Amino acid sequence: RAVILTGVGVPVVGSVLKAEEIHQNDPRQRLVILGSGWGAVSVINQLDPKKFHVTVVSPTNYFLFTPLLPSATVGTLELRSLIEPVRRLLSRLGGYYLEGRADDIDFENQLVEVAGVNDSEGRKFYVPYDKLVIAVGSESMTHGVEGLEHCNFLKSITDARDIRRKVMENFEKASLPTTTDEERRQLLSFVVCGGGPTGVEFAAELYDFLNEDLVGYFPAISPEEVQVSIIQSAEHILNTYDLKISEMTEAKFKRDNINVVTNSRVVKVNPTSVVYKDKSTGKQEEVPFGVCLWSTGVGMTPLVKSLVQKLPAGSQSNKHAIETDRYMRVLGTPEGTVYAIGDCATIPQPHFVDQVMNMLKENDTNGDNVLSYEEFQVLANKIIAKHNVLKVFLGHLDKVFEEYDKDHNGTLDLDEIRAFLVDAEKGCTALPATAQVANQQGKFVGTRINTLHDIENDPVAVAALPQFNYKHLGSLAYIGGGDAALDLGQGLVYGGIGSEYMWRSVYFSEQVSIRTRLLLLMDWSKRALFGRDISK
Ligand code: FAD
Ligand code: MG
Ligand code: MG
Ligand code: MG
Ligand code: MG
Repeated sequence: RAVILTGVGVPVVGSVLKAEEIHQNDPRQRLVILGSGWGAVSVINQLDPKKFHVTVVSPTNYFLFTPLLPSATVGTLELRSLIEPVRRLLSRLGGYYLEGRADDIDFENQLVEVAGVNDSEGRKFYVPYDKLVIAVGSESMTHGVEGLEHCNFLKSITDARDIRRKVMENFEKASLPTTTDEERRQLLSFVVCGGGPTGVEFAAELYDFLNEDLVGYFPAISPEEVQVSIIQSAEHILNTYDLKISEMTEAKFKRDNINVVTNSRVVKVNPTSVVYKDKSTGKQEEVPFGVCLWSTGVGMTPLVKSLVQKLPAGSQSNKHAIETDRYMRVLGTPEGTVYAIGDCATIPQPHFVDQVMNMLKENDTNGDNVLSYEEFQVLANKIIAKHNVLKVFLGHLDKVFEEYDKDHNGTLDLDEIRAFLVDAEKGCTALPATAQVANQQGKFVGTRINTLHDIENDPVAVAALPQFNYKHLGSLAYIGGGDAALDLGQGLVYGGIGSEYMWRSVYFSEQVSIRTRLLLLMDWSKRALFGRDISK
């Protein structure tokens, strides 16, 4: 027996009904949002309460400010300071929250199948929607590696709490007189698998903790006994950032005695050691660990996996996320009812090289098989008009032309044009799984459905609504010792004195409420005055 939610949020037992047949006592459109993370909250903050009856379904009843989560693993920040209750965020809308996990979606009848989180009997109910936003995020990628049950992850509050407890436990254990030297070496070895921003920031926080608090509080342990290692499969850590940032971070970590192993793949995790293989030599190495953090990229949640499989054949082809159009509408679902945003969503890339090569004839107005600068300008503007991701080229076209005119003869021949297109297409790779993307997509969808509400019967107005356009505001990572690496895009790199404050202020202004801002401020001042909280 299914349970149906009526308009006022009271669950009633009944059979599955069509979405239109229920909820007659509230004229507002029913908007259901799955998830309470970055994407979901950005939608919520845009909505007009008069227009929508909002229900959020999520197993976590709070929003988590993930960028500062690594700071919570060693007690720099308190976990409570990083979260904001969903119910508080929903109060402006008079919205409803259900602590549950979406297990399935019936796209035809517009129903979400939900299982309550702490319901030992596993009872399920349906939540009907007029519009649905899927923002369920991602899961850690396993790459099929054996033994991940011995690793820690860093995605949720519980994960951070587990790491913090284990770190403190290991320092305490290492301080006991009965602990052997070999045991100490293992207990005090921290291994990070994955050299992305999460792994790097965790290593940096550990380093700060060792330098600022360890000496004073754990006299039995000398800093040299502690080893932090990062194992990265790519050539560089922070490999999605500007190369200068990667090199700067690697140099700093080297000075800090953080062991950075690149170009190596983890093959197995044992209860107290990691086995990795150097990709070029094929040699295997084993490092003992007391804590091993697994942070090697993101994959699909079970819900997303099953949705991608059940959507009509041919509509979905990506292995890491749900594909949407440029309005964030899920491909293969009934027109305009389902959106997907954030880590769980991706927009398929254009593949325009061949397309444009075919268009070339039209742009070669004098038919000499090469493009003059004027002809190139017309072509480039056409591409940019269609693929607004390429807007970065606007205003720099003369430089682009010069760069690709390899033989400097003042025209682009077919090979030169192809080289330009191939590089340009690389610039439209899928958007990264970041809070910045989820936030912008959430704002976009929130704004879009607000507007749609009023113009839905006017197809001309609907067609004129804008597509999603990502604006990269830069990437940043805290790298320890008060330094942050900021990649502001277009080759602008900044690090060093003062960057920590810049780093903090960026996140500070992005906080969702004054309450959390105050909590953070208190944590930072408390740490400055008294050091970290080193209790478990
Ligand atoms: P999330 O924010 O993960 O939210 C997903 C939500 O869906 C959660 O509330 C979850 O409980 C819920 N959910 C899961 N399954 C279901 C289900 N079946 N039904 C209903 N609800 C469900 N990005 C940056 O831009 N800058 C950073 O500095 C940065 N640092 C990071 C540090 C860490 C430690 C981590 C883990 C991530 C970091 N990120 C950062 C990435 C960023 O957090 C994610 O890209 C972002 O959270 C994605 O937003 P989302 O809404 O797609 O997913
Ligand atoms: Mg979300
Ligand atoms: Mg995405
Ligand atoms: Mg020509
Ligand atoms: Mg030339």
